[in-house]
Amino acid sequence: MRRVSIFGATGSIGQNTIDLIARDPANYDVVALSGGRNIVQLARDAQDLRAEVAVTAFPELLPDLREALDGSGIEAAAGKTALLEAAARPADWVMSSIVGAAGLAPGLIALEQGATLALANKESLVAAGPLLMETARKHSARVLPVDSEHSAIFQGLVGEDINAVERIIITASGGAFRDWPMEKLATATLAEASSHPNWNMGQRITIDSASMFNKALEVIEVKEFFGVRPDQIEVLVHPESMVHALVGFNDGALMAHVGAPDMRHAIGYALHWPERRELPVARLDLAQIGQLTFRAPDLQRYPALRLAYEVMEKGGLFGAAFNAAKERALDHFIAGKLGFLDMARIVEGVLDRLSARTCDMAQAVTLANVAEIDQLARQEADALLAQGV
Ligand code: NAD
Ligand code: MG
Repeated sequence: MRRVSIFGATGSIGQNTIDLIARDPANYDVVALSGGRNIVQLARDAQDLRAEVAVTAFPELLPDLREALDGSGIEAAAGKTALLEAAARPADWVMSSIVGAAGLAPGLIALEQGATLALANKESLVAAGPLLMETARKHSARVLPVDSEHSAIFQGLVGEDINAVERIIITASGGAFRDWPMEKLATATLAEASSHPNWNMGQRITIDSASMFNKALEVIEVKEFFGVRPDQIEVLVHPESMVHALVGFNDGALMAHVGAPDMRHAIGYALHWPERRELPVARLDLAQIGQLTFRAPDLQRYPALRLAYEVMEKGGLFGAAFNAAKERALDHFIAGKLGFLDMARIVEGVLDRLSARTCDMAQAVTLANVAEIDQLARQEADALLAQGV
């Protein structure tokens, strides 16, 4: 029996993880499940999987969760401290699938217990890559990538020497607006940005896919996870989302990872690693698909990508600033206060302002400093919005 916990269990990645675990209940002992406002889903999953504890991020929802779990023998808890307490419970494998910077602290605590952390929460690596990887090393814990591109790279590196890697290429579908003319992008609505042509994901990452902020985060995620230089990382637009990543070696070989766009592949690989086991994902009929296409990304169209390379060059706490500014700009876009193209403008403005604060930005990447810069970046984003940037 493996003890497993899922943080962000009610989300898209969380539900796909539960789908895999529920197919094989005899092999898993579910410790903690966490969610947000979807109490019905959280309580149902906790009961179906016989979890020890269910945690909602929102303290005001504790009475609802208690009521939903009444008589089940499952503990109900709520709020940030409860989330961290749940992350500290011994587990062999922990899925980190909360969306946003809120996923960082529970992931660190799970690593401190020596758990294997299946990392969907890319924001953790962007905001605090050195801290996360160092925490894993210190506690002999392991981080396994769950983002599809990073899982693909990880699989492409099995049995290989990282020193023989020349470049890493991650693909991008181009999101909802890949075929829209530039002029139209400025007026893109929330509804239009919230539908993805190939992947079924949470709303925030879907919008980030349309703006390429998702790919920008992923480029930084590659650097932090695999330890390669920024100039070794490339992005390729691939509308079919079947080749997830390619690893280029010093002998000219390119190893591509090809598969259906279904997150259960990457989640399942991390769940069963180091073994490979059968997974319920579609098998591709390449003859029927006929052709796969690739093109270079247009940096004019996707300023987020250019910013990612600037952030990597600066390093340190700039990842935390970038992620937080992006999260805040996205909040404002979702709230209808900001246009689609203005998100990148706000993020760039925040980075410019913080570049001038050398004292703050030169601090070490600790949890406290990441939290401070995260806060500062969100304030700067609000200030820029108020000034009408
Ligand atoms: P989602 O919005 O569907 O789910 C997010 C989960 O986080 C929910 O359980 C929600 O209740 C919880 N949550 C939200 N705010 C929280 C907070 N402040 N504190 C605690 N919990 C909170 O998102 P998703 O699409 O499942 O994505 C989850 C993570 O996985 C993100 O980091 C995303 O970038 C990454 N990811 C997702 C996909 C995908 O296919 N969906 C692919 C690759 C990576
Ligand atoms: Mg991805």
